[in-house]
Amino acid sequence: ARKFLIGGNWKCNGTRENVAALVEVLNEGGEFPDNAEVVVAPPSIFLQTVKDTIRPDIKVSTQNVGKNVRPGAYTGELCASMIKDFGVEWVITGHSERRVGFGCAGESSDLIAEKSKVALDCGLNVIMCIGESLAVREANQTLELVLEDHMAAFLKTLEEADWSRVVVAYEPVWAIGTGVTASPAQAQEVHSAIRAWVGEKVSPAVAESLRIIYGGSVKSSNAAELATCPDIDGFLVGGASLKPDFVDIIKAVE
Ligand code: 13P
Repeated sequence: ARKFLIGGNWKCNGTRENVAALVEVLNEGGEFPDNAEVVVAPPSIFLQTVKDTIRPDIKVSTQNVGKNVRPGAYTGELCASMIKDFGVEWVITGHSERRVGFGCAGESSDLIAEKSKVALDCGLNVIMCIGESLAVREANQTLELVLEDHMAAFLKTLEEADWSRVVVAYEPVWAIGTGVTASPAQAQEVHSAIRAWVGEKVSPAVAESLRIIYGGSVKSSNAAELATCPDIDGFLVGGASLKPDFVDIIKAVE
């Protein structure tokens, strides 16, 4: 059976004071379910303090990774070998906010796949994000985009990769930060299509063991129901991961 993965993506949030408070809330959150693995992704500037102070059963992730394998003249980047050396075990790639870009060019599916490969080659675990905008969903092109563009780019680049260190995060953009969660049926439909596609293109064994997690307005009030869907193997949580509610989301998968 696949173990649930619950990730907290803190995005660009936090002050020294409230990061310390959030770590304390998590540390005092009591025992987590045996079938749950927990990862938090603070802004890079807080990685050291979070890694040093958080309970050992919560792992730490970066929110992005450079495509350069080695350190060097790449201003503003964190490279995979550096992240690995630092003792962080996870990275997130391809978040929809990075695909869009912030006043800079957004990241393409090919770039994201390349970054994911570099991270996997360095021995990191990768949460690779995919997902459609509202316009794509309304045009009935969700599966086409998610499979034939986002997943296909990964497949092309990661053919030889160790898929046991890959987690796919399906995050419909229209559900991110909007309070509108995909219904369990909507999420399950896409998750099962992703799993079937991986079964066909990679292998049935990889499809069976691959964790496909859902992101988009997950809260403790909807987590338990989403977690009952057969192809939902956890969550990537934004807003609610900054609050005590994150502890309840983790416990909701028990
Ligand atoms: P919200 O949970 O705030 O909708 O964000 C989801 C997300 O983007 C996690 O990566």
